[in-house]
Amino acid sequence: MSGSNGREITRRGFITKVGQGLVAANVAGGLLKSAQAQLVVPDPPGEKLGWAIVGLGSLAIHQILPAFAQCEKSKVVALVSGHPDKANKLALRYGVNPKNIYTYQNYDSIKDNAEVDIIYVVLPNGMHAEYTVRGLQAGKHVLTEKPMANTPAECQHMIDAGRKASKKLMVAYRCRYEPYNQEAIRVARSHELGTIKVILADAGFAMGDPNQWRLNKQLAGGGSLMDIGIYALQAARYLTGEEPSEVNAMMYSTPNDPRFKEVEEAINFQLRFPSGILANCTSSYGYAWQSHYRVVTDQGWLEMDPATGYDRLRMRIHRGNMIEEKELPVVDHFAAEMDHMSDCVMQNKEPLTPGEEGLRDLTIMHALYEAANTGKTVKL
Ligand code: NAD
Repeated sequence: MSGSNGREITRRGFITKVGQGLVAANVAGGLLKSAQAQLVVPDPPGEKLGWAIVGLGSLAIHQILPAFAQCEKSKVVALVSGHPDKANKLALRYGVNPKNIYTYQNYDSIKDNAEVDIIYVVLPNGMHAEYTVRGLQAGKHVLTEKPMANTPAECQHMIDAGRKASKKLMVAYRCRYEPYNQEAIRVARSHELGTIKVILADAGFAMGDPNQWRLNKQLAGGGSLMDIGIYALQAARYLTGEEPSEVNAMMYSTPNDPRFKEVEEAINFQLRFPSGILANCTSSYGYAWQSHYRVVTDQGWLEMDPATGYDRLRMRIHRGNMIEEKELPVVDHFAAEMDHMSDCVMQNKEPLTPGEEGLRDLTIMHALYEAANTGKTVKL
């Protein structure tokens, strides 16, 4: 995806304007800095809503808890875990009152804790539905990790529980809250690069430990598609702004590989969108880390590679005979997503990625499995 030809000129480090902010590339950063006459002291934060984190695994420990330091509207006030030692240690690190540590058994009593406004479910996929519904029934707003649940029926149950409780329900599609993917969406949908013909998107990594929950059908809901292929599917949907009308898919798992006894290793899939755009996507637990997409138009292309990592995202745009590399502000995806949720609760607004968005992905992913299992095109 990152090929070049002799006639293309790569301009790195150019200055561009995105939205309201002047964005400077590294090369110009020094000049801007030295031109600053006065030291700007940031304002103290305004109101912050209280968050409870449910499930203290890799994502919670390495990304979500540290991200609160970057939040303007969100603070961590409670932890829910099956491991008291881990929860106590993290509570000390992040200033969480030990009385606000819950287990999975007494989780429902969080309803009596007025400090908790929003619950973030960071458990294995097969547990999202139960802990989201229990959280909503406890009178809290809920942000749940992707994929929203194992099945469309579970997603609908979660949406219904949110409506019944009159609480917000959001799915943690962090890429929708960071500038690179937002700019890719703007460029793709604005037609400033021409008419989109094809989206190419790949997502995958080489899966390690054969005993982890991601390889357990009940806890994961499926294989690479549910965990990582969902990024390629999301990209195809958010870049076009359309919903696919039909899908094809082929699956593959290396024979006798102990990792893929219950779930698929790889799935390649195609989506047809109503405007005529086609998407070709791959998802795998068997290849080296891949996270890229390319929007190919009748006049050029936009590429993100990497597209969905936590940082160091890279955007290149091919127009005329030039390739431009865009440099945009770097934000913590999790802080941006959590502050969006807090803002929606404060302002009583619908989140950008509500439960219905998670349901749409689960519906399409189930159609992809059907297409792969039957060898037939599935209409949506
Ligand atoms: P993990 O295995 O590191 O953590 C899972 C946590 O759930 C652990 O604390 C574990 O103790 C707990 N748990 C409770 N009951 C369990 C059970 N029966 N089996 C296994 N674990 C159990 O996983 P993770 O990587 O932190 O992923 C958690 C969720 O976050 C998943 O839904 C995953 O898809 C999602 N995720 C999202 C991103 C992202 O970029 N948005 C990245 C990684 C993971």
